[in-house]
Order: sequence, then C-alpha cells, then structure tokens
Amino acid sequence: MAPVLVLIEHASGKPSDPSLQALTLARSFAKGDSVQALLISTPIALEGELWRDTVTALAYDLGARHGVNSTHIAEHEALDSFAPDAWAAILGQLADRLNASAIFAAGTDRGNDVMARVAARMGLPVATNCISVAPGDQITVTRQRWGGSLLEEARINSPRALITVAPHTVAVESAAAEAKVERFTPQLKEHELVVRVAERVSTKGGGVSLAEAKVVVSGGRGVGSKEGFAIIEELAGLLGAAVGCSRVVTSAGWRPHSDQVGQTGTKVAPDLYIACGISGATQHMAGCKGAKRILAINSDAEAPIMQNADYAVVGDLKEIVPAISAEIRAARAAHAPLPNPLPGGERG
Ligand SMILES: Cc1cc2nc3c(=O)[nH]c(=O)nc-3n(C[C@H](O)[C@H](O)[C@H](O)COP(=O)(O)OP(=O)(O)OC[C@H]3O[C@@H](n4cnc5c(N)ncnc54)[C@H](O)[C@@H]3O)c2cc1C
Repeated sequence: MAPVLVLIEHASGKPSDPSLQALTLARSFAKGDSVQALLISTPIALEGELWRDTVTALAYDLGARHGVNSTHIAEHEALDSFAPDAWAAILGQLADRLNASAIFAAGTDRGNDVMARVAARMGLPVATNCISVAPGDQITVTRQRWGGSLLEEARINSPRALITVAPHTVAVESAAAEAKVERFTPQLKEHELVVRVAERVSTKGGGVSLAEAKVVVSGGRGVGSKEGFAIIEELAGLLGAAVGCSRVVTSAGWRPHSDQVGQTGTKVAPDLYIACGISGATQHMAGCKGAKRILAINSDAEAPIMQNADYAVVGDLKEIVPAISAEIRAARAAHAPLPNPLPGGERG
C-alpha cells in the first residue's frame, strides 16, 4: 500500500514534540502501511560533518523509537535556513516519488505554512490543526477551529490527504522499526528560496522556549507595569520556567509579542502554568488549556480563570509572587550542603 509521509521539524539533533505528536497520529492512520519521514537538513548552530552525523543519528532514532520505516534526508546547499516554498517543493517532490497516500506535519507556524503551500501546489485541500483522523474511503478528521474553542468534524475529499496535527493534542507513543535512511538532493528553483529566514535573534534570557517549557510563569494586566514583571522573572528564574503574558501586556508594550500566550500568541502545554493577574479570557485560555495544571493568582475570586484553575490563590500578586520566591529560596537554603568549615575547603 502507499506510504504515509511525515514532515519532521528538528533542531540540534532532536525532533520537535509537535512533530512526534504528528508522527504518532500518522502511524495510527497508516494502520500498518509504511510510515516514512522527511528531515530537511538545516545546519543550524552545528558545523560541517557534525550536523550531518547528528541528522543521520536522528534519522535512525526515528525508526528505533518512533516506528518510522524509512527516513529521507533532504540536503541542498541553499537550505541553510527555513524557506517555506523550498520545503513545500521538497515535500511535494518526495510525496510524488513515493506516491504517498497522505502527508502529515505538525500544526505549528512552520508546519501549517509549508502544508498550505504544498496544498496550493498540488491543488488539493489541507486539513489543519486536526486532533483525530479516521481512515476510510472518505477520511474523517476532527479539527480545532477558533483557537480550539470549537471542534469541527470534516470529511476529506481528496486523492491525497494533507493533514496538520494541533500541537499538544496527541500523546506521543513510542514504537520500534528498523528505519532505512536515504539522502537525496531536491531540485529547487531560485524563486522558491526568495522567502526565507534572514536572521535569528535569541530571546532575552536565552534559555527556555515558551512553547516547550515545563513551567510557565505568566503575567497579565494585574502585574501593573513593565517594571512589575521583575517579580515574575524572578520566580521564573527560580523555577527554570519561561515567562509568558496576556495580550493586554504585549499591547501595552510591557513584554514582546513573542511572550504572548493565547489564540493569537503561543500555545503552551507545560506541566504547570502560573497565571498572575490574568482574568482568563477565552482567547487567553486557548493558549494555555493544554497545561497539565494551572495555578491562578488573582485578587478577584470571581475571575473566569478560577473556573479553569487547579489551584488558586486569591490576593495581591505583588505580595504573593515574592512570597513564593522567598519560600523557594528558604527551602533550597535549608537543603543546601553545609559550607566546609575547614580552612582552604579541605576535607576531613
Ligand atoms: C481576536 C482576539 C484575539 C485575542 N488573542 C489573545 C491572546 O492570544 N492572548 C491573550 O491573552 N488575549 C487575547 N485577546 C484579548 C483577550 O480577550 C483579553 O482582553 C486579555 O486576555 C485580557 O488580559 P488580562 O487577563 O491580562 O487583563 P484583564 O482581563 O484586564 O484581567 C486582569 C486580571 O488581573 C487581576 N488583577 C488586577 N490586579 C491584581 C493584583 N494586584 N493581584 C492579582 N490579580 C490582579 C484582575 O482581577 C483581573 O482578573 C484577544 C482578543 C481578541 C478579540
């Protein structure tokens, strides 16, 4: 039977979580038919043969841990940064060569961008942000609309299903297969490289990315000012968390848009989401309802976010947030190893 092809986004030798979620859904859709993966090799931050080895290891790992039967690595000298038209061309060329019955990608900004272009090139419909896919003569999908506040059931009428999977709606399941690995050089035209990432700017603070953070400390209008975010940053620093915010905050210029959580911001799925001075508007909840636990800190016990919170503290965040940070510091100090009393730090 015709294989199912999955676009895998990756960085520094690791597949993105949303891509693994898309792969899990693709495997259940394939029902035993061959599942094949495409890695587009963009040598970011790794040089020379090192990135080649890293991508090759990832290609085999997709078989050993995620049940991929064949991984195709696209290499081209012009692929040193993300270029959506070029990615769409590569995906299309490979799908045609394999005669793929379906193409899956993560419903990320990149995945949706590339798949929309694939759809336009092939003259086929694309079903974006799906949370389930049932194979059959007519494929039925359930997809998120309106930032996840509405679910739509739709049937795909197409010789080749093009599907993106809403991030954090499918649990990654592991499976083992022996992946064949193949490298190929795609044919790219000049105009397909016109739209491309020209520059990469690291976020302030560098470390944890909002979309992948295990803990997010988020502030809303209740924080009061740009300077007010110092206590949010302090708590985030102690927890190794990313800082998020509501749209009111980005509109006021207190934080950059890249920190915004919600329907028109980033969708997060941390283990813990700490919402400080955020009312919990539908558009905000669309971005954080994937969190395993929500802790709301709000002076209004009737704020809508309280309906969605697993834990709530009613009070002034300007007192509560520093108090939590102080408790964390005190707990860590109590468990810290005692300083060595011997001169010069010698061990007795
Ligand atoms: C098309 C569209 C898209 C949108 N997309 C997004 C989006 O992606 N993300 C997003 O966030 N919003 C989005 N919005 C805006 C959204 O509707 C809300 O306006 C916004 O989320 C409210 O932000 P907030 O909770 O910070 O502010 P508010 O709603 O004003 O809430 C402030 C909260 O802080 C509490 N508070 C005040 N002072 C304190 C204090 N000292 N201590 C503790 N609590 C305090 C108050 O009780 C209140 O609950 C969108 C709107 C539209 C129309």
